[in-house]
Amino acid sequence: MSTFRLPAGAHRTAETGLLPWFEHAQRDLPWRVNRTPYRVWISEIMLQQTRVDTVIPYYQRWMKAFPSVGALASADQQTVLKCWEGLGYYSRARNLHRAAQEVVERFGGDLPSDPEELASLPGIGPYTQAAILSLAFGQSFAVLDGNVERVLTRLCAIGEDIRVPRVKSGLRDLATRLLGGLPAGPFNEAMMELGATVCLPGTPRCEACPFLPVCRAHRENRTGEFPFKSKKKPIPTVEVGAAITWRDENTFLIARRKEGGLLGGMWEFPGGKREEGEDIKACIRRELKEELDILVDVNKTCVHVRHTYSHFHLRMVVHHCTWKGDPPKAIDCADFRWVTLADCLQLPFGKADRKVLQALQGR
Ligand code: SF4
Repeated sequence: MSTFRLPAGAHRTAETGLLPWFEHAQRDLPWRVNRTPYRVWISEIMLQQTRVDTVIPYYQRWMKAFPSVGALASADQQTVLKCWEGLGYYSRARNLHRAAQEVVERFGGDLPSDPEELASLPGIGPYTQAAILSLAFGQSFAVLDGNVERVLTRLCAIGEDIRVPRVKSGLRDLATRLLGGLPAGPFNEAMMELGATVCLPGTPRCEACPFLPVCRAHRENRTGEFPFKSKKKPIPTVEVGAAITWRDENTFLIARRKEGGLLGGMWEFPGGKREEGEDIKACIRRELKEELDILVDVNKTCVHVRHTYSHFHLRMVVHHCTWKGDPPKAIDCADFRWVTLADCLQLPFGKADRKVLQALQGR
């Protein structure tokens, strides 16, 4: 593990500058009101990879739909996914749902405050574990998210690659030392708030920062150099053919994706990846045969959809298709259903498939 050095006086500044700054500068956010372990947990999962502004309406809807661990545990998965629809990274919603069921079964409905028990729940990694333990239970754990990394690398002028695990654990250790004996909940929130509102990714607002007197990057006029992140490898493009298979004028076929993979449990227009040398119509015919054991005539194009996931760019070509009449079977999907457009409003779809629904609505 790398041992990074805190600037002299940094811990003291955290106590006398950062915490009082947070007292008056913190934003009003719904998860800061009526704080319970459950509310902290939901907000921390939603906020992963997602902006605060985007999360707020989802959080409010979620709390209305599932006000407690018990309510979430007893909901069906489709309702949970529908409530999450549009937030992306759907494994977060599936894990929340499974974890809520475990909390009811194993812990009587109360999120455990024991670090190991908490970490044994689906979807709770080191970041979420530290966030819940500190924010909800007041335990002395420092959190490290992208905002905290930015503050720390600038405060200490750390130019090493923050994608490297050794550097990450060095930063985690640094956060723990900066926390020292301070109250962990307010400290963590203050560090994250500082990164989100003052120590900004582009140009930081150093004049408003409580760490200004001790910050190395500011003193050396090098704030633009930190944090250093090596470039990610370029992500591939995947071409997919998908079908709107009409049974009659209003009813078409959709399939539910298998659990576990990307968008697991969500509904989609059946189809799949184009193989090398295959044209898109042949791809659609093959995919429908493999996925649902049906034959279709592939007609005109409905829409071209582009969407970027974390690890690939999707290019999807969607065709209207005519069903030849053999009954579908869920061979390579979890389920299928004949639906109208109105039915689809009640079901969870990923972003790319919602673009297809929009194209159908505008027909
Ligand atoms: S002084 Fe500037 S660079 Fe340093 S932590 Fe504060 S906002 Fe970030």
